[in-house]
Amino acid sequence: MADDPTEPAALTRDSLLFVDDDHFERGTVALVTGAGSGIGRATAVALAANGLTVAATDLDEAGLDGTIEKADDLDADGAIEPIVGDLTDDEFLERVVDEAAEFGEVRYLANIAGLQHIDPVDEFPVEKFDLLHDVMLRAPFVLSKHVIPHIQATDDGVGAIGNMASIHGHVATQDKVGYVSAKFGIRGLTKSIAAEGDGTLRAFTVSTGYVKTPLVTNQIPDSARERGISEREVVEDVMLGEARVKEMMEPVEVANLFTLGFSKHGRHLDGGDLTWDGGQLGTY
Ligand code: NAD
Repeated sequence: MADDPTEPAALTRDSLLFVDDDHFERGTVALVTGAGSGIGRATAVALAANGLTVAATDLDEAGLDGTIEKADDLDADGAIEPIVGDLTDDEFLERVVDEAAEFGEVRYLANIAGLQHIDPVDEFPVEKFDLLHDVMLRAPFVLSKHVIPHIQATDDGVGAIGNMASIHGHVATQDKVGYVSAKFGIRGLTKSIAAEGDGTLRAFTVSTGYVKTPLVTNQIPDSARERGISEREVVEDVMLGEARVKEMMEPVEVANLFTLGFSKHGRHLDGGDLTWDGGQLGTY
């Protein structure tokens, strides 16, 4: 498309939220999944810029290299340590937390990795449904299981698990049954962690509308086909039609929500949802 509304702006220091927090230093580790692209990459860079050591994991090794390069370009005070692996592999889910703990005290987990598949319910392949659930719901649960003991073992028990949900964790649109059901599920996982966290170990979700990432760009042709409309109509009418802010979010704007949620300013954010939806859910 000409004038591509899905093309993100360059990530600059000016676009980052910086928070002064005693725990935001190199001895503290944030494990970030999906860190090789889009929102996960921006979050890894944002947390490293805030001084943390980020254990950055993804299937995509070249993507992780790009994330390290971006953090270097921005002169991040912290560090990014890449760990390549597949979130559908239980052995990896245990190992990635062990490896993250070698870099310092693991206090933060950002479950961001995800993928989309477009098909109506009656044609939705069962193996795709399972894959979406494995990556976006089961892996966040298993990683939380392994990370929680690390947070509990710190001197003050302070830490947080931030889970990437979506407006699709609040409402459904057609042809996304795997995604919608996983995103509704991750809100339940988040509240369950909060219920057991005693207030120092917190959990929260982030729910946004459409963000300028490959996950969005890749679904436009399939959505156009299923709905029988043009790709531009998918963007303007389906993705932004119900929102009041008629522009997709930048990945860094989502990353800043993880920085805020993990920080001392997020102290009362526990089981709740940061709904940054451009007015889509609350208006009609
Ligand atoms: P993206 O495609 O840019 O990044 C997703 C990353 O997840 C990729 O780097 C991919 O390699 C990784 N990944 C996928 N399967 C994996 C696996 N099995 N093991 C390890 N890594 C795996 O997408 P994005 O838009 O940045 O999405 C990140 C998260 O944000 C997802 O959970 C998505 O559902 C959510 N989200 C996105 C939007 C949006 O509009 N882009 C809106 C709301 C929520």
